[in-house]
Amino acid sequence: MRIILIGPPGAGKGTQCERLIHHLRVPHLSTGEMLRHAVRAGSPEGLEVARYMDQGQLVPDPIILGMVTKRLESADCRAGFLLDGFPRTLTQAATLDELLERRAMAIDCVVELAVPREELVRRMLARGRSDDDPSVFATRIASFELQTAPLLAYYARQGKLVSIDGMGSADAIFERVKASIRRFGPAAPRR
Ligand code: ADP
Repeated sequence: MRIILIGPPGAGKGTQCERLIHHLRVPHLSTGEMLRHAVRAGSPEGLEVARYMDQGQLVPDPIILGMVTKRLESADCRAGFLLDGFPRTLTQAATLDELLERRAMAIDCVVELAVPREELVRRMLARGRSDDDPSVFATRIASFELQTAPLLAYYARQGKLVSIDGMGSADAIFERVKASIRRFGPAAPRR
C-alpha cells in the first residue's frame, strides 16, 4: 500500500506511523527524519536545511524533492511505503503524482490526523524538541494551515482522503486509522 499521513505538528503522526509501518510492512519515509539526519551529518546541505528548520519554515522544494525522489527509487519502496511529512505543499503533491505516474504507480490513500490547535500547543509544551520553541511552533502551525491544509482538498478530489479524529489514546486512534484504510487495501474492491 502507498499511503500518506498528514497532520499538523504535534498531531501524533510519529506514533501512528510507527504502528502503521508494522501493520502494513512498508518502509517509513519521513522527510523530517531525513532532514534531521542531514543536519546531524553536518554537510553543506545540512547546514542550509538547519536554517529553515530552526525557524519552522519549509525547506525549499529542490532539496526535498531530490531527497524523496532518491528514496522512492530504492528497491524497498516497490511494494509500498508510508510517507510522513511529505508532501507538504501542492507543488510537492503534484510532483509526487507525476513521479509515481511515470512509474505506473499511484498513492492509494491519504490519512488526515485532525487535532484542535489548543491540543497541539499543549502536546508541544510536553515534548520539547529543538524546533518546539513556542514561537517556532506557531510558525510551523501557520505553515501547516497555509501550505499543507490545501492538500486535503486535493486528495479529497481524488477520492483518497480519510480524516481521523486525532484525539484520544494512541491505541484508540490507531484502531480508527486501521479501520479507515481497510477499504483502500489489497482486498478492497477495485475502484
Ligand atoms: P512536524 O510535522 O512536527 O512539523 P517534521 O519532522 O515532519 O515535524 O518536520 C520538521 C521540519 O522539517 C519542518 O518544520 C520543516 O522545516 C522541515 N520539513 C519536513 N518535511 C518537509 C517538506 N516535505 N517540505 C519542506 N520542509 C519540510
